[in-house]
Amino acid sequence: MSEQSPLAVDHGPNFSVGHLGPFAELMQYQFVVPALGNRKVPGKVFLKEPLALTGVEMSWNCFPPGVAIPFLHAHREHEEVYLFISGSGEFMVDDRAFPVAEGSVVRVAPAGARAYRNTGSTPLHFIVLQVKAGSLAASTIDDGEVLDQPLHWPASVTV
Ligand code: ZN
Repeated sequence: MSEQSPLAVDHGPNFSVGHLGPFAELMQYQFVVPALGNRKVPGKVFLKEPLALTGVEMSWNCFPPGVAIPFLHAHREHEEVYLFISGSGEFMVDDRAFPVAEGSVVRVAPAGARAYRNTGSTPLHFIVLQVKAGSLAASTIDDGEVLDQPLHWPASVTV
């Protein structure tokens, strides 16, 4: 089981919406890792459970300056995608290391032994997606369809 600070989430029949707040305040969240002796990881928020995601796991992350993930890890079935939002750091997969910064996108196959660290002087903010490797059809744009119904915005937008 994971443990993290409460995240305000609203649900409708066909949606979930959560508001994590500014990236600058992400350190208020804390993820506890049972497999690592209940190691506490500040600045990491998993979203599968609060948003009731069914096809993707997702986390928002903040590594302050000098913070590095202290171990290598791989996955059994999940491909990971790292979306770097701000800051700068280094990423390692197997025997390759490369710089990452705002705008970098990294895909790692399940078997890749990976680690990453903040080597800059500002927080490294990034989002991680986990999806089952090989689960998407060849052409994902074909999955969308324009609906034959009028578009009317509700009279009020509620929080
Ligand atoms: Zn991972």
